Amino acid sequence: MSAVSEIVRLLAGLFIGYVLASLIESYMHQNVSDAPNKSVNRWERFPLLYGYLLRTRYSHHVIHHCRTFKQDYVTQFRNVAERETLNLELAGRGSHGRIIQRSHYAVRLHGSGSLVFISPLLPVIPLTFMMMGGWATIGACVALALPPLFSYFIHPYLHLPHERAVREAPFLTAWLLKRWYFRAMARNHYMHHRYIASNFNLVLGGDLLRGRYRRPSSKDLSEMQRLGLRID
Ligand SMILES: [Zn+2]
Ligand SMILES: [Zn+2]
Repeated sequence: MSAVSEIVRLLAGLFIGYVLASLIESYMHQNVSDAPNKSVNRWERFPLLYGYLLRTRYSHHVIHHCRTFKQDYVTQFRNVAERETLNLELAGRGSHGRIIQRSHYAVRLHGSGSLVFISPLLPVIPLTFMMMGGWATIGACVALALPPLFSYFIHPYLHLPHERAVREAPFLTAWLLKRWYFRAMARNHYMHHRYIASNFNLVLGGDLLRGRYRRPSSKDLSEMQRLGLRID
């Protein structure tokens, strides 16, 4: 096989892996991490079977969306008392409560939460290998790693004003945060926190393909600006 054909296969795998990773991230975020109440009610009837989904939904939806960042998108707690009240609640949830605290209140991908992002991606690997061979599989694996990597390394900095994020992030993360793709990601994530039924992606594209992308209005953009997010 020539070097050109290997590169083409690698890029094809990268492309297919990217599209699938983005679609799966958008779908799982909507239907598990931010699952609607009717799903939660169904899961609660079979806690042994669905306990894992319930924990993921609790840490992301309840803690990250509802119990923190109540003042605004860049302020996790209004005051110490608010944090202490949440700490008390989490202390009553045993090991899962401790995992949530260690993840800075679900701001960073953590514990069992990471499986929601990773496990649906795994069947893509043998499928790509069987259909397209080893080089395409390497490309696909790189793309499939993006949802958990972005959740762990990038998401915490999306909840900071841009200048502060760039100042506090490690060198490579800071460099990435200034690039077009990551500025678009920051705006998309702001929109998700503002309108919870849309803009689920960190790995951009899947929301658009699933009809779940909401474009920021001029009011949204001026609010982003007020919070110190970049809108260019
Ligand atoms: Zn969410
Ligand atoms: Zn967030």
